[in-house]
Order: sequence, then C-alpha cells, then structure tokens
Amino acid sequence: MAIRTILTAPDPRLKKKSKPVASVDAEVRQLMDDMLETMYEAPGIGLAAPQIGVLKRVIVLDIDREDVKTGPIVLANPEIVEASDEDAIYEEGCLSVPEHYSDVARPARVKVRYLDREGATQEMACEGLLATCVQHEIDHLDGILFIDHISSLKRNMILRKLLKARKEAERDEAEGKPAKPKTKKKEAAGAI
Ligand SMILES: [Zn+2]
Repeated sequence: MAIRTILTAPDPRLKKKSKPVASVDAEVRQLMDDMLETMYEAPGIGLAAPQIGVLKRVIVLDIDREDVKTGPIVLANPEIVEASDEDAIYEEGCLSVPEHYSDVARPARVKVRYLDREGATQEMACEGLLATCVQHEIDHLDGILFIDHISSLKRNMILRKLLKARKEAERDEAEGKPAKPKTKKKEAAGAI
C-alpha cells in the first residue's frame, strides 16, 4: 500500500469525469488499498479516485461515528439506483477543499449499486451520513465538488482562499520556510 497525494481545488483533474473500470482486477484492488491508506492518513471518512489524480470510478469510505459505523467499504462503478424525495442537510467538508465547510442538501436516503473488492455486484441502502458520503464521492467521479452545490459567491470566495493559501505555501517552500502544520480543529465534521 502507498499513501498518495490528495489534489486540492482548483485543480483541473478534479473537474474531469472518471471512467468505469472494466473489471475489479489486481490493479483496481491496489488502487482501493492505496485510497484507504491515503484516506486514513489524511484523515478523512471518504475518498474518490480522482482526488488522487486517477480518473477511474472507484470510491472508498469508512465512517466511524456513534450513529454510523461502516468499517472500510470499497466501491467500483457505484451508481445511485434509488433516491428519496426527502432531503437531508449536512455540513460537508472535503479533503480536496481543505478547511472549508458548508451545508449541502441531498436526498436523505439512496440505494447504491456497485462492484465490491471481489468484483461481485452489490447493493447498499444508505441513510444519514453514509448517504451524504456516498453521494459526495459519486459527485467526485463526475467532476463535481460540494462547493458546486453552494452559491457561486461562496464558492468563488473559497476557491480564492485556497489559491492564496497554495501560493503562500509555494512561496514559503521556495524560501525554505517549514510548512505550516495542518489545522485539524474541524476534524469532527469529517472531510470526504
Ligand atoms: Zn470530497
């Protein structure tokens, strides 16, 4: 397993549509393992392959909360086959939009069809945070970030701040200054 670099917005690769995997072979399983390791290290509760620059329809999740405990889940070619009319609102974060959080409304319950680590077709009924996470990750496979669900005013403000932070980090690196430690104060919200 290997920890991969997580891309952050605005990176053009995060806006691309990912391709389905032909089958869950050794290469895809390796990708799943690397994604889980990268997600745990971040730390996050979900990760999609395009977030590490791989444009394949693969996502991983592991939610460990009082109300939801899933253990590691890997999904290839996930698709939503049923969604509730009722919405739920969660404050979402994203490993590719570090340190920004915003309320996003999505269907409260969804059913997802996918291929598991052995390549078998599975269906999973999701609600609560799991439903939010799965939909957030599938959005990544279509080049959509949670900030695309909020007002353009707020989105542009977040993107400007991310660009500024990146430029400052690049300048500090060029000047040989040590990197700023990652702030983890909002870890509890769960970056996905
Ligand atoms: Zn995300």
